[in-house]
Amino acid sequence: MRAKVWGCRGSLASPGPETVRYGGNTSCLEVRLSDDRMLVIDAGTGIRGLGVHLGANPPARIDLLLSHLHLDHIEGIGFFGPIWNPESEIHFWGPPSPTHSLREGIGHYFSPPLFPVHIDDIPSKLVFHDVGSEPWEIGTAVVQARPVNHPGPTLGYRIQEGDRVLTYISDHEPSLGIDLTTADTDMVSGYGLAYGADVLFHDAQYTEDEYPVRVGWGHSSIAHTVQFGLITKARNLFLFHHDPMHTDAQLEAMLVRAKELWGAERDGGLAISFEGMEIEVT
Ligand SMILES: [Zn+2]
Ligand SMILES: [Zn+2]
Repeated sequence: MRAKVWGCRGSLASPGPETVRYGGNTSCLEVRLSDDRMLVIDAGTGIRGLGVHLGANPPARIDLLLSHLHLDHIEGIGFFGPIWNPESEIHFWGPPSPTHSLREGIGHYFSPPLFPVHIDDIPSKLVFHDVGSEPWEIGTAVVQARPVNHPGPTLGYRIQEGDRVLTYISDHEPSLGIDLTTADTDMVSGYGLAYGADVLFHDAQYTEDEYPVRVGWGHSSIAHTVQFGLITKARNLFLFHHDPMHTDAQLEAMLVRAKELWGAERDGGLAISFEGMEIEVT
């Protein structure tokens, strides 16, 4: 299994010279299984570049796993090339809502005044799956989703192929109401999804100074991100969902702090996600 980051910015796309190193596009991660089958997690603005990369002959079937329907995770859907290809079959997986189906939620995006084309007029075949609590198979992978702490219905994903695990929790505030360093792990949001993961992509939106006035907004301070990675025993932690106000230099300062907390004796295993980053999950 391997992965490529097409967007790792949070909340709002933020292109420009101060974000060129880590990228300004919002969340999108391509995951390829060992047989080259394609999964895509989240459809932020980064998914546009993935569509361009796939060109005129995209895979016949693409599974698109949505963490939630906040705009920064869906706004690229209408600009993803395969959506407009009648030969494509796109399976949407996403969180169930008490008030509407996943199709209705995506339908809000494909409707006036937000978008000029109605969902019924999209030429590709769209299949919608409201994700339940049971794991399911996509090709050679087993996928597990769980609700995580974030405003509105939001999922984290654990993708396992063979004995390798990639976990993605892009928008997450596991520290809300608890102390991560002392809490019973059963009480920690996302714990089971991330436990023992070979690769963990996790929310790293705020500095420790920024967090206190943003409690309840659904994101982590860098200290919470590292604590979550340590208690879940993730082997490799990738900081993800960078705040749109953070420059490349600020992200690198956050990495210095994160490494202090992570512990030098762990010898690597901690990095900032950047657009174009490719990793092999081993
Ligand atoms: Zn987000
Ligand atoms: Zn969100």
